[in-house]
Amino acid sequence: MYEELDVIIKNRFIDEFKDGYPLISKESLNSWEKVSKEGTILNLLDEKRRFIAKAYHGVQNKGMGWVLTKEKKQKINLEFFKEKINKAIKYREDFYKNKETTAFRVLNGEGDNLGGLTIDYFDGFYLLTWYSLGIYQFKDEIIEALKSEVSYKGIYQKRRFDTKGQYLESDNDFVFGEKAPEPLIIKENNENFAIYLDDGPMVGVFLDQREVRKTIRDKYAKDKTVLNTFSYTGAFSVFAARGGAKKTTSVDLANRSRAKTQEQFVINNIDIEKQEIIVQDVFDYFNFAVKKDFLFDMVVVDPPSFARSKKRTFSVAKDYVKLLKEIIQITNKDGIIVASTNCANFGMVTFRDFIAKAFKESHKKYKIEESFSLPKDFKVIDEFRESSYLKVVFIRKLS
Ligand code: SAH
Repeated sequence: MYEELDVIIKNRFIDEFKDGYPLISKESLNSWEKVSKEGTILNLLDEKRRFIAKAYHGVQNKGMGWVLTKEKKQKINLEFFKEKINKAIKYREDFYKNKETTAFRVLNGEGDNLGGLTIDYFDGFYLLTWYSLGIYQFKDEIIEALKSEVSYKGIYQKRRFDTKGQYLESDNDFVFGEKAPEPLIIKENNENFAIYLDDGPMVGVFLDQREVRKTIRDKYAKDKTVLNTFSYTGAFSVFAARGGAKKTTSVDLANRSRAKTQEQFVINNIDIEKQEIIVQDVFDYFNFAVKKDFLFDMVVVDPPSFARSKKRTFSVAKDYVKLLKEIIQITNKDGIIVASTNCANFGMVTFRDFIAKAFKESHKKYKIEESFSLPKDFKVIDEFRESSYLKVVFIRKLS
C-alpha cells in the first residue's frame, strides 16, 4: 500500500485535468506543504473536495508528478500496472511480430499514461528507465507486472533521477533473469546494432531515429558522400553505407566514438577502410573542412540539446542557426542536409524558422523534402503534445 494524500487543485487547472492533461505542475496545487515523500499517491480534489484524478508525486525536470487515473475507485496496485503494460504491449503488437526490427519502445511514459517510466525492448531483453524517485517507489510492482505480461530473457534498468535528470551511476543495471551478451546484437530494418545494456547511460543507439535511418538508406544515400556530425556510434553512417554511400565521414568529440563506430561497421559487413571516423569537436572540423574546400552530398546533424566541451558550450535553442550555416557552407548544390533535434523546448515551427534564417543569412535557397517526428512506438497523447520532442527535416540545398 502506498501513502495517499488529498490535495486541492487550483480552480484554473481543473478543466485541464478533466480533459486529460497528465502533468502535475508546481503551480497546479494550492499547497505542497503536506506532500513530502516522492511516490505519494495524490488524490486531486477541487475546492469543494470533489474528486478529479489520482496522481503520484515524482520530481522531474518536467514537473512534480503525473496523473495515473481518473477513476476514483482505482487502486494503484499490481493489477493496475499490469493493465497499463498490457495496453502498451497491445499497441506495439506489430513491432513484436516484425522480424526485421528487434528493438523498440514498449512503454513511453505519459504517452502510455504512465509518466516517469519508459520501457524498451532489445531482442528479448527489457530496459526500464526511471525518471524520478517517485516512480521508482513503485518499482517492485511494476517489474512484477512486466514479468507477468511478457516473456523475457532478462530485465535491466537505468535510474535517471538526480536533480537534473542525470543518470545515476551504478555498478550494475542488471535486475533479473539472464544477462545479455555484450554486445547484444539487435536488428533494425535488417541492419545490425551492437547494444550494451549495462555500460553507462546510453546503450548504443537511439531508437526514435529508426525511420530517419531507413529513409537515409533507402532514398538518399546511394553514391553519395556523407558527413555525419555528432555521430556517437555512427548509426546514421551505418545506414548511409548500407544504402550505398560512396563514403561516410563520422565526427564526434568523444574518444569512445571511434571504437564504437568501427564495431557497428564491422557487424554490418561495411568495409572500414572506406569510411572515415574523426574524433574532434565538430566546430573545429567545420573550420578545417571549409579551409580545405570540402563539399559533401549529404550532411547529417543531430546534436545533443546541450553540450559542454573544454572550449565551448553549445545549446540547440541558441546555436542551431550558426550550426546550420556552417553546414550549408560544406554541402554541395543539390545536396541534402538532414537537420535533427530532440530539444523539447521548441516545436517544428520554430525549428523551420531556424532553417529559414540560416539559409537566408547564407544567401542560399533550399527546399524541404520531408520531415519526421517520433515513430509510432514512441507514443504521444494529444493532451500532452509537449512530449513530442523529435524534429527531423530533410533539406535540399538548391543554390
Ligand atoms: N546523432 C547520434 C546521437 C548523438 S548523441 C545518433 O543518431 O546516434 C550526441 C553526441 O554528440 C555524443 O556522442 C557526444 O559525444 C557528441 N558531441 C557533443 N558535443 C560535441 C561537439 N562539440 N563536437 C562533436 N561531438 C559532440
